[in-house]
Amino acid sequence: MISGETTARVSEPHADENRTETGRGRAGQEVGKSCVLVSMGGRRIMFDCGMHMGHLDNRRYPDFSKICEKGDFNSALTCIVITHFHLDHVGALPYFTEVCGYNGPIFMSYPTKVLAPLMLEDYRKVMVERRGEEEQFTSDHIIECMKKVTPIDLKQVVQVDKDLQICAYYAGHVLGAVMIYAKVGGSAMVYTGDYNMTPDRHLGAAQIDCLELDLLITESTYATTIRDSKYAREREFLKAVHKCVASGGKVLIPTFALGRAQELCILLDDYWERMNLMAPIYFSAVCPFDRSLLNAPGPCVLFATPGMISGGFSLEAFKQWAPSEKNLVTLPGYCVAGTIGHKLMCGKPTQINLDKDTCINVRCQIHQLSFSPHTDAKGIMDLVGFLSPKHVMLVHGEKPKMATLKGRIETELGIPCFVPENNECVQIPSSQHIKVAFQREFLRNSFNLDLSNASHGQHCVSDSVLGHEIAEFGREERTAEGILVMEKNKMPKIVTQDELLHILGAEEHLVQMACCCPVKLKNSDTGERNLSSGQLTSALLQLLLKEVKSKIACSFIRVNSDHLEMESFKARVCLKKLCPHRLKQGGCDVVSEVFFCCSWLLIDDELARKVLCIMRDVELEEPNQNYLLPHQPFGRLLDWPDPIPT
Ligand SMILES: [Zn+2]
Ligand SMILES: [Zn+2]
Ligand SMILES: [Zn+2]
Repeated sequence: MISGETTARVSEPHADENRTETGRGRAGQEVGKSCVLVSMGGRRIMFDCGMHMGHLDNRRYPDFSKICEKGDFNSALTCIVITHFHLDHVGALPYFTEVCGYNGPIFMSYPTKVLAPLMLEDYRKVMVERRGEEEQFTSDHIIECMKKVTPIDLKQVVQVDKDLQICAYYAGHVLGAVMIYAKVGGSAMVYTGDYNMTPDRHLGAAQIDCLELDLLITESTYATTIRDSKYAREREFLKAVHKCVASGGKVLIPTFALGRAQELCILLDDYWERMNLMAPIYFSAVCPFDRSLLNAPGPCVLFATPGMISGGFSLEAFKQWAPSEKNLVTLPGYCVAGTIGHKLMCGKPTQINLDKDTCINVRCQIHQLSFSPHTDAKGIMDLVGFLSPKHVMLVHGEKPKMATLKGRIETELGIPCFVPENNECVQIPSSQHIKVAFQREFLRNSFNLDLSNASHGQHCVSDSVLGHEIAEFGREERTAEGILVMEKNKMPKIVTQDELLHILGAEEHLVQMACCCPVKLKNSDTGERNLSSGQLTSALLQLLLKEVKSKIACSFIRVNSDHLEMESFKARVCLKKLCPHRLKQGGCDVVSEVFFCCSWLLIDDELARKVLCIMRDVELEEPNQNYLLPHQPFGRLLDWPDPIPT
């Protein structure tokens, strides 16, 4: 195993939340589309495939072209994981599979697999049948899409492919909601989806193991809110219902068949018993409700579907009861635009036109339910603190509040936090462990280094010593450096540089440095001298050798035929008129200096620079008289034929 660096590339095709506060209640309206794409260790996972209900055109879907432009989603994605049945998390799935053609694995919990098609069909009916919108996906699309889904259990470890593992944890948001843990090699992350850290009567608080994570992507709907006590909100709701039935009114509680309905039902039942109330409570989704009871005298409470009063029995009851100010209608925290629930939330209208023949007078009281199944700021901080991931990313929230929360996470918990824009990519470093193969040569090489460091002075290790070293390898942790070679469909291997050159059939490429350095000459004005170029070169090199030797303690320095040599550093007298390595071209005082063309390898750079400094500062003696010959004017040095091969 080796450890290395990899990057988790996280993009968020869309996760905007335009939560606008409405005239009544605190819950506000929540619309957005969650869809987060994570690339990790070569795997690409789509977390949620949500729909934005504020748009009527294609903007309601995530921009799938960000996944891959050519539209080959099957090879671009490893899998899709859906956290829960809310449309802002699953709404675009049938469109993506049946219209865009994604055919790969899809995972969701068992309850989500049962409930998501109900939500999708409900939405499709409202959009297409009631509002006459262009059909985005059909009932058949929903059915076909769901056939592709693999249901998963809580805490069941799912091996998606040989490298990618996922596991679902209880999120406590709605029935079947999960947080998703994903792991590739040594990189791991959690995507929370929506979650709730406060238990209620029908759902517990989110539960997750203490996992080691590179990244936590968390929702942040209530990034700055510390919600008022649950008790106070419940009391408000019970007071409103009690007041209504006490004065003989009828209470309509439109709900989805699942989720909050159970919570409210248990709450009311309990209260009825304590207060000894007699008014009947009906639950139309569970047992058939006799329609004649709608107009029966006396108070009652009715739970009816669908939750947003978009049709069905809740609409029927609303038509009958809305005109009386004695009656009460409660609204869920969340309603799709275009539904009656949505109209009531956006300020109480006095009249609602259902169609051209039907107009409903609205005089009843309205109570906004604010039982929000999202975690508040304290819950987010608790989860981040508990998991202590290396990085945090906030999604599914409002920008300014997310910025505040980011500040808290970074200062209070000391964890870097990202708040990406829609469609923005964020790269996060993570560690990755991979198994690699290696040759004996590699081990030998690594251990040679260790042994020579331990001053054994032994550069060749026998096989028995090597065997001993391999046995040691298991006991102590050692670092062996090498080059990682990864080829498609082959096990990665780690090799030495020599092995790599052999694999590539290439020769070692060395970086060589060069510089043509001027050196000053003493007594240049003593008249003309006559030397052969060979004699002059030799004399100058000997003079330079003397100077350098006196300043650098190096036993390897010597003059070798036409150059001075020290490790890889070489200096030759350069007589070229225009040398490409020259630091400066000869000035007017050409006689007083001579050029040395120097070259060296990068490993000897430090040594070379020392020598160059000496050459810059030194003034060489007059060349020895022994080398003087007649008719060779030293003053015309630069006119001589070029003695150095280029
Ligand atoms: Zn949700
Ligand atoms: Zn959501
Ligand atoms: Zn030169």
